[in-house]
Amino acid sequence: MTTDFRKLAAPAVLGLSPYVPGKPLSELEREYGIHDSVKLASNENPLGPSPRAVQAATAALGGIRFYPDGNGHELRQALARHHAIAPECITLGNGSNDLLVMLAEAFLAPGVEAAMSEYCFQIFPLAAQATGATVAIAPANPRKAAMPLGHDVKALRAAVNARTRIVFIANPNNPTGTWLAPGELRGFIKSLPDTTLVVVDEAYHDYSRAVDCPDASAWLSDLPNLVVLRTFSKAYGLAGLRVGYGLSHPDVAELLNRVRQPFNVSVVGLAAASAALGDRPHVEAVAVLNRAGVEQLTQGCRAVDIACLPTAGNFLLIDLGRPAAPIYQALLRAGVIVRPMAPYGLPNYLRISTGTAAQNERCIKALAAALGSAA
Ligand SMILES: *Cc1c(COP(=O)(O)O)cnc(C)c1O
Repeated sequence: MTTDFRKLAAPAVLGLSPYVPGKPLSELEREYGIHDSVKLASNENPLGPSPRAVQAATAALGGIRFYPDGNGHELRQALARHHAIAPECITLGNGSNDLLVMLAEAFLAPGVEAAMSEYCFQIFPLAAQATGATVAIAPANPRKAAMPLGHDVKALRAAVNARTRIVFIANPNNPTGTWLAPGELRGFIKSLPDTTLVVVDEAYHDYSRAVDCPDASAWLSDLPNLVVLRTFSKAYGLAGLRVGYGLSHPDVAELLNRVRQPFNVSVVGLAAASAALGDRPHVEAVAVLNRAGVEQLTQGCRAVDIACLPTAGNFLLIDLGRPAAPIYQALLRAGVIVRPMAPYGLPNYLRISTGTAAQNERCIKALAAALGSAA
């Protein structure tokens, strides 16, 4: 008789469903026996990182027999200069995902609550539930709203009570692409009790500067309950290295540091991130390419009568108006990986990341063909 390990698991863990990532290229090519496929499924950056970051990462390989600097001194100094903030306010993470888990560990437990919106980033409920805390989900905007399926700050405020320790907001939000305007977000944060932290995940900040999406990091000095998360995975093109960070009140950072794994960012990650931060023109070029990609994909969808939601990110949520699974499968057979949205409760939707002009074109053609043959 083997042990029923489920009986041994922490009760909160039994209620979790694992995160479903975008399908890796290698897996698609293995399963379908094809090559030259394109992945527009995980909001990765088609230009990749700055050459300076690649150079720094390569050079850092010479030092991988040593543990990394557990305090990440150099990167935190560089980030402190970049954000004009004290280094004590910065917590480094193995991706910003790591910060989400640290925040949950430090502030959530059975008996307290975390609040978030419907159609929010899926790691939010996952990190919160794992602690045994109660998760309150606020209804999102209706499909017909100006920010369809986006966060409704009134509903979110109504989901907060005296037991709420954290409100999680991605701005812009993944997977919807929608965003809260500066006044709306700031007003919401100011309306919260001082026993509630608000985590504003700005993973897409360098893309969202194209629209009226705020830079919440500018509010840290007068909103002490605010935590802002940033990542090197998106516009900086370092998703594979796993580096993110949190900006917060130093007392919050000190608490996060108690649950942080001592060497959570690698030698290579630290070096590459510091170098990437110094190459603003590269990030600008990435943002410019993304705007062209959003335009190209939007036009392409429009041409086949598919509705795209507004986006401040490097991805588009598209509403097929019918089950998306067969279209997703047809795209896979054509060598184009996009993201099915059924795990988010949106079975009629697909999320498409922007790629190069050629990759976007390939996706549009495959989508038109899939829709034609499925009609
Ligand atoms: C992609 C993404 C992240 C980045 O996660 P990392 O762990 O830094 O790679 C964080 N938040 C949101 C909302 C995202 O979409």
